[in-house]
Amino acid sequence: MAEPKPIHVLQLYPRDMNIYGDFGNALVLQRRLQWRGYEPILHSYDPEDEFPEQVDLVIGGGGQDSGQDKIQQDLLRIGDRLHTLAQSGTPMLMICGLYQLFGHSFRTREGREIKGVGILDLRTEGTDTRLIGNVVAESTEFGEILGYENHSGQTYLGPGVQPLARVTKGEGNNAKDSYEGARFKNIVGSYLHGSLLPKNPAIADFLIATAVQNRYAEASQPQIDPAGSAQPIDELTRKARTTATRR
Ligand code: GLN
Repeated sequence: MAEPKPIHVLQLYPRDMNIYGDFGNALVLQRRLQWRGYEPILHSYDPEDEFPEQVDLVIGGGGQDSGQDKIQQDLLRIGDRLHTLAQSGTPMLMICGLYQLFGHSFRTREGREIKGVGILDLRTEGTDTRLIGNVVAESTEFGEILGYENHSGQTYLGPGVQPLARVTKGEGNNAKDSYEGARFKNIVGSYLHGSLLPKNPAIADFLIATAVQNRYAEASQPQIDPAGSAQPIDELTRKARTTATRR
């Protein structure tokens, strides 16, 4: 059998930006890549680390305002690299705190301005209200999206991005409009923890298919079912989706 082809997954700032189980997104990508016969190589990138040479997919999680402060300078330092990857169509998933910092700016409740890397055309304002709870949202691209939100920053989209989904339960980006998350090129930004990908495998498969297409110019191979497990696991996901988030 041929050696599995590597897919390099870069996880941004797992030390400071990784809450409410966001690391589950990395685990899902690893496992689903393996099921398709690829070798996932996970690079954990924290401030001052060397930026990996090969990057096929980028993920980043949420964090407190203090965590965002810790990584901000470094994020700006590697900004050009991230812009280049984004422009060339690299799939990315940014959750909550890093979703905010992929935008232009985050003005905290205290009025401090945390400059974002400006890849996504959006702005975030800190508020005294926390938006907390389960979220159900409808996306034309991915179908129903489920997750959990907990943020006091509220995000407003500019004309350069599309919303990821429209909220039917919970708040999403802010308490005013009904949008959740953002889409730009092959980037998915979202407020949803949970983690997002275990509950929403359609998004995981989009990220994987895009990474594989970009790197090897091939459609990602059909899911390999080593112990008859792949199919039942998607079935379990479906059951968990229908029971977990509707409370
Ligand atoms: N600190 C940000 C906020 O509360 C992000 C929180 C998070 O990542 N869950 O808005």
